[in-house]
Amino acid sequence: MRFVSTAGDASADLAEALTSGLAPDGGLFVPETLPRFGAEALAGCESLPESARRVLAPFFEGSALAEELPLICNESLDLPLPISAIRPHHPDEAPAWLLELFHGPTAAFKDFAARFLAACLSRLRGAEEPIRTVLVATSGDTGGAVAAAFHRRPGFRMVVLYPDGKVSARQAHQLGAFGDNVHAYRVQGNFDDCQRLVKRALGDRELLGRVPMTSANSISIGRLLPQISYYAHAAHRLLAETGEKVDVIVPTGNLGNATACILAREMGLPIGHVTLATNANRALPDYFAGGDFDPREAIATLANAMDVGRPSNFERLAWLFRDRDLREADIDAVGIDDARIRETIVKTDRERGLAVCPHTACAMAALEDRRSAGNNRPALVVATAHPAKFEQVVEPLLGREIPPPPALAELLKKESHAEPMAAEYDALLAVLRDEDQNL
Ligand SMILES: *Cc1c(COP(=O)(O)O)cnc(C)c1O
Repeated sequence: MRFVSTAGDASADLAEALTSGLAPDGGLFVPETLPRFGAEALAGCESLPESARRVLAPFFEGSALAEELPLICNESLDLPLPISAIRPHHPDEAPAWLLELFHGPTAAFKDFAARFLAACLSRLRGAEEPIRTVLVATSGDTGGAVAAAFHRRPGFRMVVLYPDGKVSARQAHQLGAFGDNVHAYRVQGNFDDCQRLVKRALGDRELLGRVPMTSANSISIGRLLPQISYYAHAAHRLLAETGEKVDVIVPTGNLGNATACILAREMGLPIGHVTLATNANRALPDYFAGGDFDPREAIATLANAMDVGRPSNFERLAWLFRDRDLREADIDAVGIDDARIRETIVKTDRERGLAVCPHTACAMAALEDRRSAGNNRPALVVATAHPAKFEQVVEPLLGREIPPPPALAELLKKESHAEPMAAEYDALLAVLRDEDQNL
């Protein structure tokens, strides 16, 4: 399988697309063609790694990693994946389920993709190559998931930059708690400053000559592909249970997770309508309501991992639907503001017996809107983080403690350390070059 750039005619095989991240012409890599699967394609697949091997095989065909795919799936995707029934409001309500993607080491869905990417990159690295630095800017969840995935991985060191004081207390603790080959820096600036520094370093030829670096940010095709597999797996299981395609509601920020869901549907997997549930950042709801795609400054909300004004994966969706009208593609988008997020966290707990994080609350609000509008189709609500990760929002609303899941509790017990760093390129250069730091 070849991967082409959304920006023009650059093309690469999977290994090249994985190692370079962004296409050389500045576009994002997309698969040249989509494999098609019939209704029975995943028959007999009991676990996520089994489903993933089957669904991802065509993308790996002909690449240096093709033979390794089964091992990569076993090693990285073997996380618990409960699909739990959501308690109905009344006996006639169509079934709805929660796809719990938050049982990985950092309690958010990004664990699946970060682990898969790390498993791929470590196999692509030659034994003789110098240590590779994985440089990541994070507004909270990405850095933790990538750090967990590369922690103690031979041949890699990880440098993570986050805006000091602008991530949740638990997120900050998590970022500094790995130690070993993971180095956390709290930058005196905002997330955009962190991202600007990382972009500049990854484009700095002179620096790259001396310090080999890789990015692991969300636009990597190596993070998109594994996300297809849990939609395929869940949709197939629910088809067996109900005999119907399931509609899916995805909490959406940068549009990576939802694009994977739409790809799974376009590959023939049994998924019906897809709803993108965003927070008060309205670029997508406004577009799907008939406006132009109008990226804008991000605004801060309670669902902070979705505070994106310019969803970068829109480019991939637009490419995928280049011959069709994306607004006629059985996709819609809803925007949920902070007041509604709070209200939904309380109501979901009281009426459905379920504590949800602020991101998942956006998707639950979309489910409630569908039901009150008389839509009674089976629906799968995607839960992107464990509520205990956002305890400062959730606990006061519910008036009780939400115990963290075991992996997160372990991390929170460890000591945590992050070095301060000025939001200046020279400061980053010093960090990347400083051998005394024993990076
Ligand atoms: C990253 C993140 C999202 C948004 O996912 P995208 O792929 O960027 O749309 C939603 N919820 C949580 C908890 C996240 O960490």
